[in-house]
Amino acid sequence: MRAAVLTGPRTVEIVDRPEPELLPGSCLVAVERCGIGGPDLLAWRSGNLPAPAWFGHEWSGRVVAVGAESSDRFIGERVVGAVPPPCGNCVPCRAGIGAFCRLVLDMIIGTDERASDHGAFAELIRADSRRLHRLPEGVDYADGALAEPGAVAAHAVRQADPSLGDVAVVVGAGTVGLLVAELARLAGASRVAVLELEPERRELACDLGTDAAFAEAGDLNRWLAAQGHGLGADIVFDCAGGQKAMDDSLASVRSGGLMVLVGATPDEVVIPAGQLLSREVTVTSSLGYTIADVHRALDLMADDRFRVSKLYDRIVGFAELPSVFEELSRRRTRRPKVLFSPDPA
Ligand SMILES: [Zn+2]
Repeated sequence: MRAAVLTGPRTVEIVDRPEPELLPGSCLVAVERCGIGGPDLLAWRSGNLPAPAWFGHEWSGRVVAVGAESSDRFIGERVVGAVPPPCGNCVPCRAGIGAFCRLVLDMIIGTDERASDHGAFAELIRADSRRLHRLPEGVDYADGALAEPGAVAAHAVRQADPSLGDVAVVVGAGTVGLLVAELARLAGASRVAVLELEPERRELACDLGTDAAFAEAGDLNRWLAAQGHGLGADIVFDCAGGQKAMDDSLASVRSGGLMVLVGATPDEVVIPAGQLLSREVTVTSSLGYTIADVHRALDLMADDRFRVSKLYDRIVGFAELPSVFEELSRRRTRRPKVLFSPDPA
């Protein structure tokens, strides 16, 4: 069977592999759709190779084989790949902080013992059956491939816990930023603005219900000054990462407000402690997601309240995949998300 693997900086190779072996506690899934995500792009650019199963981790598919000890799954089941429940046995689980379960972390980064030796840019993938979540009726495979970034966005919004009347700002309208903007409103924020350089992504943000979208921090801050009591944003989600995003976030958050670090960057970022101190700004962070975030994201999609299909307009196969990474790294795609399918026709 075919699989696309990352073999070096900016190098994606299409290889022929034997079908993955069906291990006890695992399933084989025929991949239907797999999103190309921010972490995939970071790995592609840097050549810092992640665990092989990490490259292509936003996937949906059909169960085609069920291993021993996987009796809760069935052949033909429509599923997405995400995280399992906390294991209950590791040190954090035994201490009562299952959110930091080591098994969950292993599975997020693709280093657990049943992980496939490649990601889901492939025809088939093996996965621990605990990682599989049923795709609700009415949610197709393409939207299902956004359950994983949807869960990342849900986690970020739940960390912030917006309340009625809050003004929220999202810095960076990539996939996760756009999804955070949607969910922040669903969670209670009354006004939501986006800061994003690309005009098409600002337009898309407004299409998805954002009140305002700006390219320049100065324009955003003028808009904020005109809202409510002119205090600035109650919550700022930094979904871009990097020094400029940090500075822009800090410039728009109100005194006593909350900043949530969501976007990853390999660069060093300085957090100006004096400003945090003098304005009592709280900084928190959001890493990955939990099983509860997956279920909430899928349920909201099934209810048609969390709309993800405008984030992609293109499905590519093996042949196009290497060049799509080039395009995405230059932000040359019309929509922030491009989906892979082993059989795009
Ligand atoms: Zn655990």
